[in-house]
Amino acid sequence: MKIVNYRVGDTVRAGCIVDEKIVDLNKAYVQLLQSQGHLRDEKLADALVPSNTIELLEGGEKSLEEAYKAVEFALANDIVVNRSDVKIEAPVLKPNKIICVGHNYREHILEMKRELPKFPVVFAKFNNTIIGPEDDIPLPSITEQLDYEAEFAFVIGKRARNVSKEEALDYVAGYTIVNDVTARDLQRRTLQWLQGKTLDGSAPMGPWLVTKDEIPNPHELEIVLTVNGEERQRSNTKNLVFNVNYLVEFLSSIMTLEPGDVVCTGTPGGVGVAREPQVFLQDGDVVRIEVDKIGVLENKVKAVSTVVKVGKE
Ligand code: MG
Repeated sequence: MKIVNYRVGDTVRAGCIVDEKIVDLNKAYVQLLQSQGHLRDEKLADALVPSNTIELLEGGEKSLEEAYKAVEFALANDIVVNRSDVKIEAPVLKPNKIICVGHNYREHILEMKRELPKFPVVFAKFNNTIIGPEDDIPLPSITEQLDYEAEFAFVIGKRARNVSKEEALDYVAGYTIVNDVTARDLQRRTLQWLQGKTLDGSAPMGPWLVTKDEIPNPHELEIVLTVNGEERQRSNTKNLVFNVNYLVEFLSSIMTLEPGDVVCTGTPGGVGVAREPQVFLQDGDVVRIEVDKIGVLENKVKAVSTVVKVGKE
């Protein structure tokens, strides 16, 4: 299932996208229950197939199973919304954590002139960075070196603490794409990278979350990034130094992972800062990331005179 967040006005709701049609999972489930003569249909639907994607993930396999029934019912009865009539947002909007792994593709580590690490480099982004597949990437005047990083990301589906590599995928809900947009000048002015990684809008995510049943092997996916149609990054998730299984084990040995937590697995070689000559993102650039079996995340870069305000204007 491809789980989306879709917006109509001020409301964002969980949907499933099939071709260019979106099924509102919660509403479809209410109608399914009504068709079966259930009382308390809305309360049952809010509990089992909630309209918030993170709460839906918290419901685990039971919620997903019921969500599939809702989709089947909605498609059979043509209870759908056209994609073109709504705005698609990032598939998770306020995760408990966004954990990023640095230096995780062999060729990117070498181009950054570093040695292969013994442990993953781990850092954080915050919820202010999340934007959706139809949003522009803000280019604020505080940086002159905004750079792209194509990343394959996984989303946690079940609370995880001290989970082994062998059981790791049981704790993954599914997969998405993140552009770990980075202000290189801010990243490198101190030892900690955080300030270069946390500009508002610096984590375009989406276009949806593909549940893991559609991607049995996450370690064979081609990942390609282009800027204005020119290929800049290409690799395959088989080249990850620390793969999904390892990262779940490693991260859950440090902290409890919660449903909805996003883990960005690192970027391949070809980032702008490592090119000769260096090249950074400019106003109007179009950054497109494609990952096999997930889809395409494409965002335009837009210069903004000041740092974008958090939340709604
Ligand atoms: Mg990165």
